[in-house]
Amino acid sequence: MFVAINDKEKRYNLLHIRNKERLLSLRREEQFFCPVCKQEVQLKIGEHKQPHFAHKRAHTCLLEFERESPYHLKGKELLYQWLHKQGFDVKVERYFPSIAQRPDLFITADETQLAIEYQCSTISADVFMKRTCSYWKEGIRVLWILGGNQFKRQGAHWLRLSAFHTLCVQPGTYLLYFCPEASSFFQCSSLIPFSSAAAFSHMVPHPLRSSNLSSVLAPSHVTLSQLQREWNNKKKAWRRNGLYVMHPYYHPFLAYLYEKRIPLSCFPPESLIPLPSLLSIQTPALLWQSFILIEEIGKLRVGDFFSSHYMYTRLVRKGKVKIRSLPYLSSSMPKKALLEYLHFLCFTGYIEHVDTFKYRKKREPLIPQHEEEAYRMDEEMIGYALRLFGPHATLEHEKRI
Ligand SMILES: [Zn+2]
Repeated sequence: MFVAINDKEKRYNLLHIRNKERLLSLRREEQFFCPVCKQEVQLKIGEHKQPHFAHKRAHTCLLEFERESPYHLKGKELLYQWLHKQGFDVKVERYFPSIAQRPDLFITADETQLAIEYQCSTISADVFMKRTCSYWKEGIRVLWILGGNQFKRQGAHWLRLSAFHTLCVQPGTYLLYFCPEASSFFQCSSLIPFSSAAAFSHMVPHPLRSSNLSSVLAPSHVTLSQLQREWNNKKKAWRRNGLYVMHPYYHPFLAYLYEKRIPLSCFPPESLIPLPSLLSIQTPALLWQSFILIEEIGKLRVGDFFSSHYMYTRLVRKGKVKIRSLPYLSSSMPKKALLEYLHFLCFTGYIEHVDTFKYRKKREPLIPQHEEEAYRMDEEMIGYALRLFGPHATLEHEKRI
């Protein structure tokens, strides 16, 4: 940490003391204490880490959840300077006794109070929720910025999302990473999970020197042609290899394909479809969409009716979907994802929309005869799916700021 007090409660902020001689003399002359737990802390001045304070006895302070790495300290310092340069009144490690929280950085702009948590290691969902909700209770907005060391990029448009990362998805449906080594933010918007291992994302770097807080917080929009190309390529690769290395979790779906004598590479093209609200469902798209397509609507006769409520209940009650915890986004998002999928199936002509909640089955699901046909069908399907993304391709489901 960068802030400590002396025995007369005088506050020392190391981000304001740049001179090494001054630091060394302070260390000789003063005794420092943690402003939160009042235990003694040491002023550490090394070659590799920023000068910082550390508790003499580790794990005794309630607020020291993690030992601060050099990466975290460096990032916190750069973010502090960056906000300071923009004219914000920035407080580093300000303590809020009423909620027992000490955000890395805190600013007040107009009427908005913003706590910034710069998180370079994984914390449990319980700790995350407790911290986030206690800020909300005080009317403080909280921005989670992930350390660039957490950024699991897989090429230009794909990344790996962990359960902890998705908790941090901000209003506007994006994740913000900050890397002190690159001196840059990376904003990952339009997050659309393809499988449990990979999610599509529109990634935009925002170097510190050319960005400000509002530009970093404005969600950028996906280019539909990018999504189309990337999704198609991935689905093609998945048809060739993906199913053969599937986790046992996928077995009911595989069993269906075997039973119908459908080669794995010819799974129904109307499944594994990108949707604007897909992030809200943790279960891989291939699984829950195939369940709807084959097991639910598939078992109806052509001409039969069903309702979207019924379908949603089947999905949730039968435990076919696991809903993702996205505290910043609307809780109606999973329902929206299902409606988007039904909408897509109307575009393809599999079903038709009869009334507000009522649909009718029009034909049997498409099953390609061979791989080449599957690729052609996939290309056609993605064209229908893109219609769901609207003219501006916004993917916003804000609940809170
Ligand atoms: Zn302490």
